[in-house]
Amino acid sequence: SEHFLSVRDLYVQFATEDGTVKAVDGLSFDLDRGKTLGIVGESGSGKSVTNLAILGLHNPRNTTIAGEIVLDGQELTGASTKTLEKLRGKKMAMVFQDSLTALSPYYTVGRQIAEPYMKHLGASKKEARDRAIEMLGKVGIPQPQTRVDDYPHQFSGGMRQRAMIAMALVCNPDLVIADEPTTALDVTVQAQILDLLKDLQQETGTAIILITHDLGVIANTADDVVVMYAGRAVERGTVRDILKTPEHPYAWGLLGSIPRLSASVDVPLAPIPGSPPSLLNPPSGCPFHPRCTFAGEVGGDRCATERPVLPEGRGSACHLTPEQKRDIFIQQVQPR
Ligand code: SF4
Ligand code: MG
Repeated sequence: SEHFLSVRDLYVQFATEDGTVKAVDGLSFDLDRGKTLGIVGESGSGKSVTNLAILGLHNPRNTTIAGEIVLDGQELTGASTKTLEKLRGKKMAMVFQDSLTALSPYYTVGRQIAEPYMKHLGASKKEARDRAIEMLGKVGIPQPQTRVDDYPHQFSGGMRQRAMIAMALVCNPDLVIADEPTTALDVTVQAQILDLLKDLQQETGTAIILITHDLGVIANTADDVVVMYAGRAVERGTVRDILKTPEHPYAWGLLGSIPRLSASVDVPLAPIPGSPPSLLNPPSGCPFHPRCTFAGEVGGDRCATERPVLPEGRGSACHLTPEQKRDIFIQQVQPR
């Protein structure tokens, strides 16, 4: 089947003074038009790096990329810098976490929204300014014609995030990548921004990749979810699968509970002990094994030696079935 975006066996490695960082280690996923894929994981899980690779924003001097990224039939991993630059803004765009670094303090908000419209679609100054006003209105800035000449510091944090979305969407891109787009905002504004993205998606049919460490952010926004750990996808499913019946111990940790242990009660879990592994020297076998409370229960040291495979479609990369893990968990919390 033809997906709008198809990522297959993606590997991204950086050369550093200390050695090779395996930032993305064999990642595959698909995304269709009008859909949102949530990529969830802690910092250092490879989720941001994946998306920089899709956009071609990695540093080509120290980065090696292998695998396939096919966007609307076009292969991106081998594409030239020039091709990628053309695609960015026009066909794909990015919403960053921090509007203060993404927006220049020296230019008006309107000019920064108008610029990609002129550059990619050849619009005149006047057309682009009108379009900037239109876009500010679309993202919910009241009286946009009176705000178009404001500088970023004259906007609140939430308004700047809206302006950044206006800038990303000004050329009607087919793919928007939003990396922690609401992390810097308070909860109410977060919800407004996520609603806004969803509304704009319904209007334009753009595909969205939403990168976050927060399962709450994907709950009402994503269709499908990939959970990443140490540069690998460890679980994938629909957003309902991931929130209601997650299978990987890491996903249980992110969620803070083991679901459906009994009919009605979720069992709260302590936060995952330890920290994400160094990608200079990733753990052998299952990358989660140094932190996993189930690793010792799997025979033959398999977790430390054998890499579990993530199945196609719904599933998780673990040597144990969810049922086996729940049985072990019950024994662990209720010793006879
Ligand atoms: Fe834990 Fe082993 Fe499953 Fe990895 S494969 S998540 S270490 S039980
Ligand atoms: Mg990040």
